Amino acid sequence: MAANKATSALIVHGGAGTIGSAKDRVQRRRAMIDAVKRGAAVLRRGASALDAVCASVTALEDHPLFNAGYGSLLNSEGVAEMDASVMVAQPPGDDGEAGVRSGAVAVVTRVRNPVLAARVVMERTRHLLMAGTAAERFLRRNGIPLCKPDELVSDRARERWRARIEHERHELLAAGGHGTVGAAAIDIHGHLAAATSTGGVPGKLPGRVGDSAIYGAGVFASGSGAASATGHGEAIIRAALCRETIEALEEASPMDAARLRISASILPQGAEAGIIVVDRKGRLGYAHCAETMEVGIFDARGEIRHVWVKSIAREFGSSRRVSDKSRRKSPRKSNR
Ligand code: ASP
Repeated sequence: MAANKATSALIVHGGAGTIGSAKDRVQRRRAMIDAVKRGAAVLRRGASALDAVCASVTALEDHPLFNAGYGSLLNSEGVAEMDASVMVAQPPGDDGEAGVRSGAVAVVTRVRNPVLAARVVMERTRHLLMAGTAAERFLRRNGIPLCKPDELVSDRARERWRARIEHERHELLAAGGHGTVGAAAIDIHGHLAAATSTGGVPGKLPGRVGDSAIYGAGVFASGSGAASATGHGEAIIRAALCRETIEALEEASPMDAARLRISASILPQGAEAGIIVVDRKGRLGYAHCAETMEVGIFDARGEIRHVWVKSIAREFGSSRRVSDKSRRKSPRKSNR
């Protein structure tokens, strides 16, 4: 069933993780509101949910305080290797089936706006996921400008990488990573879209691919809704978090579906993750089990706001189980 024709809505996240400094929080909030405004402007003029999520995500990819595009966290060799994805669903037709498409890139090092590269994969290939230098050559031929890998490394990301190498060598692989960005939207035509973009977890091994490039894990859309996730990529992939959350919309509101899937499939892994959701009625949902997660909202009434979302970890704390030895040894770190 198509959404109410007048309904459009958008939700944006800026990563699930630690709270960070007061100064950073002010800047991040401002950047999030700006990103929502850009996406909302697209929806208000009647353009597509896909254009809206791309507008919001590119705004955050260009901002040095977020772990995506410029400012991405660096891998163990000091290189920004980025993953991104987009997914769209048209309202179900007479046969009840929604038209669903997706595209993703993984381990790209020379693309300023990986979300636009993911969109090229979706729109110009018959593939779902492209990776590596051959993918970058393809992207260049298809209008995505390439830059030098160093041009994506902010001073802040370089400093953090040095600090990790010097002080935390033994814990590089266990450290969590936050500041990933994502968006989910519905437009006035009832089209749903989601997008996710990240530099991944800090100190990751070169070549590691996280959930942000994986259909059903870090991104998903169907006739029921669209979702984007953030947090420990390996846990999100195991949980097929976005897909499971969208499927839960059959019986739950977006807010309940988000809370349910985080509590049932992320907390038991002893991991931290967050998710944002929009359903086909334009209702929004979000939940996380990290220290904090921020979302920017353009709701179906046309209001724009920013929310620091409270973790559900305490509420569901008793079900928390640490299943990964390396994680048990790893103290929580600030990545902001
Ligand atoms: N999910 C991302 C990854 O594992 C990181 C994050 O969201 O902070 O690559």
